[in-house]
Amino acid sequence: MPTSGFRISAYLSVDQAIETMCAQAQCHLATEKVIVTEALGRILAEDITAPFSLPPYDNAAVDGYGVRSVDHTESPRRVVCRAAAGAVADCSLGPGEAVRLFTGTPLPHGVDAVVMQEKCQREGDWVRIPAGVAPGTNCRRAGEDVRRGHRALTAGTRLRPQDLGLTAALGLRTLPVRVALRVALFSTGDELREPGVPLPPGCIYDANRYTIYSCLTSLGCVVTNMGILPDSETAVTAALQDAALRHDLLVTSGGVSVGEEDHVRAAVREIGALYIWRVKIKPGKPVAIGSVANVPFLGLPGNPVAAMVAFLILCRPLVLTLAGRSFQPPALYPIQASFGLTRSPGRREFLRVRLDDGRATLCPMQGAAVLSSLSHADGFADLGETVEHVQPDDIIRFLPLTDLLW
Ligand code: AMP
Ligand code: MG
Repeated sequence: MPTSGFRISAYLSVDQAIETMCAQAQCHLATEKVIVTEALGRILAEDITAPFSLPPYDNAAVDGYGVRSVDHTESPRRVVCRAAAGAVADCSLGPGEAVRLFTGTPLPHGVDAVVMQEKCQREGDWVRIPAGVAPGTNCRRAGEDVRRGHRALTAGTRLRPQDLGLTAALGLRTLPVRVALRVALFSTGDELREPGVPLPPGCIYDANRYTIYSCLTSLGCVVTNMGILPDSETAVTAALQDAALRHDLLVTSGGVSVGEEDHVRAAVREIGALYIWRVKIKPGKPVAIGSVANVPFLGLPGNPVAAMVAFLILCRPLVLTLAGRSFQPPALYPIQASFGLTRSPGRREFLRVRLDDGRATLCPMQGAAVLSSLSHADGFADLGETVEHVQPDDIIRFLPLTDLLW
């Protein structure tokens, strides 16, 4: 995280805030080896270079007969040998000859095309093959998938099922991955109560810790649930200082706005540094980014939709960077709006929308506290800072929630 270089007073755009945070954040996590079956969702710590080519040898792509494509004739060819999967045909094909092959069996010397068995007529030791087989037909070439010595996977990749299959195909039993990012997660607010206990008048149940805990775990972090902090600068200061000793990232929600009960920013200033406060994002503007004892700190807004939007849009890139993952801005899909609206420009806005018949439909309540709008949403309509109107049928940018939770 940065220690200098930009002013706290700067009111940054979403992209500037992300760029500023990520440019100066680094992954300091150790590497461990895990067996491939345990590596799903882990972050690759080193490039994986292919120790041999894949496939390792030229082989048949179908069950059928291996031939020489120069033999144009349709007259029957003599079947000189046979090789099933796992076996190697011990023959070299001469003119007018064929070899019985199965999917994946190595191509014997001389074979440069494989004709699928459905197109062939077998009669005893002979097989009739249609004329005009092009060279290379149904042949899989050594190295056409991955070449020996080439990079098969890049450091920073979050491993998906297909990546694990690829590493297994390359003969690897273990993979170097980053240990998980340890995150301490707090809620703040005297009005908050833990679900399951009776609710006194004027209080509400803590929702943010559940939303943000799950966002963090879905990104692969190990989260310590630190509970609810009171609205007291002393309490926040002590708790953050203590958590910084055992965590790689500190996250709070609430208490970062401008009310006199908002103590989180003051606490962070007192014991660390605040680099960003307020970003041109809606919802989610009052977000505080800094560090405590050199541990990055994210102070999310209290309103539940604002907290999740600020986390997924602004803070997720930083979390991924700290976790050792390469961050690519999420894809924005062009989609037709089924709604119209007029808004005041100035902030990039993430409206909760559903997909209906391939069109974006606005969730009816868009308030920063209306958490059900997120439950009903498939994703966000992403309106740029300068957008003032959306007309029905306009093409807008759609950001699926699922793309942000991985
Ligand atoms: P604050 O920024 O602390 O003033 O909070 C703004 C609004 O969000 C208030 O209505 C808070 O009650 C609410 N809020 C803060 N934290 C949470 C939380 N963890 N869960 C649900 N609502 C919250
Ligand atoms: Mg509060």
